[in-house]
Amino acid sequence: MGNISGNEALQLLIEGNKRFTTGNLAVKDTGPARRDELVSKGQKPFAIIITCSDSRVPPELIFDQALGDLFVIRTAGNVVDPIAVGSAEYAVEHLGAPLLVVMGHEKCGAVQATVDGGEAPGSIAAIVAKIAPSVQKARDAGAAGNDLYEECCLENIKATISEIMESHIVKHFIKDGKLTVMGAKYYLGSGEVEFI
Ligand SMILES: [Zn+2]
Repeated sequence: MGNISGNEALQLLIEGNKRFTTGNLAVKDTGPARRDELVSKGQKPFAIIITCSDSRVPPELIFDQALGDLFVIRTAGNVVDPIAVGSAEYAVEHLGAPLLVVMGHEKCGAVQATVDGGEAPGSIAAIVAKIAPSVQKARDAGAAGNDLYEECCLENIKATISEIMESHIVKHFIKDGKLTVMGAKYYLGSGEVEFI
């Protein structure tokens, strides 16, 4: 795949998700020749996906993409820290990926646990601390009940995007028109991705 725009990359994701939801999956070449090609020519992923570690949310399947297509960063609750931001910066600066998507999902356990409160043992507390301000925002906006979970999910996507946007590398590439950053939400049951 040559150099494509952020918008063209988005279209590839939309088309791939359509194939996923309709069961018309593309044939993917994962054989030795393709692997060799990716070694000799190097990788050129067309999108960076920051999403949840949830086993029901694998980007390569959801977007029906193959080897070398997506640069994926996954953490519980799709929160980022300097290592995750650095990973995204690497894909932007060195691999030239034109699109970065922060994708939350319906019924996210990390979001629900933060909303519900209670004890967060070990380093789970670090994840909860990242999501907590989004819970407050959603509550301040009047969300309650099940609505609060999903409203918090949206706020959490926005919070991760804000953190990504603090990166000078990301800012620079956006300013030069070489990078598009967007949010998305994945629906577990329908398999659909809604771009925000
Ligand atoms: Zn999740």
